[in-house]
Amino acid sequence: MAGSKYVYVKRFEMPDSLLPGTFTVVRIDGHGFHRFSTEHSFTRPNDERALKLMDQAAQSVMEEYSDIILAFGQSDEYSFLLRKDTKLHNRRHSKILSLLLSLFTSSYTFYWSKYFHEVELKYPPSFDARIVLYPSAKEVRDYFAWRQVDTHINNLYNTAFWALVQQGGESTTQAHALLKGTQSAQKHELLFSRFGINYNHIDVRFRKGSVLVREVQTHSTPGQSMYLTAATASPGSCDSASDNVPAVGAANVASREIRGVTGRREKVIRSVRVRHDDIVGNTFWEARPELLE
Ligand code: ATP
Ligand code: ATP
Ligand code: MG
Ligand code: MG
Ligand code: MG
Ligand code: MG
Repeated sequence: MAGSKYVYVKRFEMPDSLLPGTFTVVRIDGHGFHRFSTEHSFTRPNDERALKLMDQAAQSVMEEYSDIILAFGQSDEYSFLLRKDTKLHNRRHSKILSLLLSLFTSSYTFYWSKYFHEVELKYPPSFDARIVLYPSAKEVRDYFAWRQVDTHINNLYNTAFWALVQQGGESTTQAHALLKGTQSAQKHELLFSRFGINYNHIDVRFRKGSVLVREVQTHSTPGQSMYLTAATASPGSCDSASDNVPAVGAANVASREIRGVTGRREKVIRSVRVRHDDIVGNTFWEARPELLE
């Protein structure tokens, strides 16, 4: 079909494909969430509803784009890792970035009431996003370690800060002053001696953030009954954004049927799971070598 005389303007659009053979990380971060969290009365230091809503939004993104193999979230941010050899939208930078970002944002608002119930969403939230390319597995591991160490540093500070304010009766200015220059061990000690809080007993979601991975589940069908086994179950805490049930909706799983060793028909399903594992050490990565291939 011949275009109009105006079609030449299309030539001003520049190619923007991502360097081949590199790992793509997309990081999304809430815009002005200090204000957003205040306006929506988030509990301090950690609003669990808000964190679960972030996990849900990230899960939607991961279910839509099968080339995302890992995600990590904390506070108002989420990072997504794409397969090194992804062919998603011919690796077009702006296409990938804008699609992931808009689906994340629309999912955040779509699922708002599932987590915040009667709390009114006062204005449409927005998120920023960037793509960073990493040349090798080392940088990918260090990237995710960086984000999780950041989670720990912020959460330890915020836990001590809000204990001083909420339980210790200090003003925010006094709390800042008391924590200024303190080392991690001193914050642990302050929490324990003054408030009886053992930091290591705080909800692992708050201490470690959320890790989204695809896990293989096998549905066996002996006769009429059906049961589920996690084929790659590994130690560590695990839940789903949707009430401890693995997400097995229509669009969110890649499944295929195989005949198991016992001759029973088995359906292999890869579903997105929310975990709170340590991703700084080796255990998580050694259990999932495919992430860094
Ligand atoms: P920017 O637009 O530059 O990202 P910002 O206001 O979003 O600015 P961030 O550094 O991204 O600032 O920090 C996000 C802020 O949102 C946190 O400091 C915290 O106040 C708040 N916040 C986000 N998630 C939660 C949560 N689950 N519980 C409590 N507070 C939260
Ligand atoms: P892509 O993801 O590549 O953009 P697409 O399916 O969105 O694919 P477009 O070329 O963007 O394709 O075309 C959008 C299509 O959406 C139109 O062809 C039309 O079928 C439909 N559409 C969009 N807006 C309207 C509307 N207001 N009324 C009726 N149909 C609409
Ligand atoms: Mg930001
Ligand atoms: Mg932010
Ligand atoms: Mg942030
Ligand atoms: Mg379109």
